[in-house]
Amino acid sequence: MAFAAMPRVAFAARNTLRSMRTGVQPGNKTRLVIETALRPSYNLTYLPNQLIISLANTGANNGISASLASSGLVKSVTQAQSGDTLKITANLKQSIAQIPKSQIMVLEPNGDNDYRLVLDFVAGANNASTASSSYTTSTASTTTAITAARKYVIVVDAGHGGKDPGCIGKGGTREKDIVLSVARKLKTKLDANGFKTHLTRSDDRYLKLADRAAIAEKRKADLFISLHANANPSRAMKGFSIYTLSEKASDEEAKKLAEAENAADKIGVEGFTEFEENIRIALSSLQQHAVAEMSEEYANGCAKAFKRASITQQAGPDVRHAPFAVLRSTVPGALLELGHLSNASEEKLLKTAAHQDKLVDAIVRSVKNYNFEV
Ligand SMILES: [Zn+2]
Repeated sequence: MAFAAMPRVAFAARNTLRSMRTGVQPGNKTRLVIETALRPSYNLTYLPNQLIISLANTGANNGISASLASSGLVKSVTQAQSGDTLKITANLKQSIAQIPKSQIMVLEPNGDNDYRLVLDFVAGANNASTASSSYTTSTASTTTAITAARKYVIVVDAGHGGKDPGCIGKGGTREKDIVLSVARKLKTKLDANGFKTHLTRSDDRYLKLADRAAIAEKRKADLFISLHANANPSRAMKGFSIYTLSEKASDEEAKKLAEAENAADKIGVEGFTEFEENIRIALSSLQQHAVAEMSEEYANGCAKAFKRASITQQAGPDVRHAPFAVLRSTVPGALLELGHLSNASEEKLLKTAAHQDKLVDAIVRSVKNYNFEV
């Protein structure tokens, strides 16, 4: 009887529309901002003189009206509920072409703002008037169509190689072999998802750390991911950890790790300032700041993706910082320690195809969720 009285749960997590506004950006771009309480899962449809934004699992909010810039392309905005989907129609002064992915951003909440879906577009060039595209940014693993935009370039770096085995587990597993295997799988999967992926090494060879960073520069990479596995004197220690570059290590353990990873090229973490001074000079302080910010954002998203995949995390903060030589470049990126080869059970796990696939899927998700243009 008690069960009969239970209400049916309509939505696990229903999103709410918070606000809508437009503005005009340099280059005569109209910017449409749709603010929602939760991360939006969206789909765009292009019709003559209309752009329809379908938000999954979202309720209409008739208490708000769009704030529109008079000089923008948007004349009016309407909301219509269609089942679980909220359809927002932007009525346009002129038709628009499919918006490239680089002109679509989902911003995290900050200050007084919630999540914001930001769409930048210009008038004209319209053969795709009835084309529909789905750029879904939510947890749903729908295909991401990136055909309209430039392919983002990812450089995946398998740590160590050749004469440098990296760390070695008690069972004889070598770091260089594990990370190469994961790197290859990752390239296949990223390419299948519309990215252009390059490996710093695709076989068992030794590469200097600076050369790895240089490959990211040469390829004009949008993101650099360096793959490693850990060893710790404590054999009980396990789990993944994620690092970004900083001159100073965030803790003693991070410093030791950077020393170990830099040891391949005998680069100490002290005296790091002189190293790659050319890179420092090449970058304005603003750019340096932007690269650090973007790296941090990627690393945080990556930690989130790993946790969501239930991959064991090493105790401590989601993202740590240390002066890793391999991250010293103008390309945003992170160094991922995928797990501990010094831990017997994790050493076994890291060798299995199933666990490597799980790691690869989590990294692919982190790349897909990363905001390349912000
Ligand atoms: Zn390593």
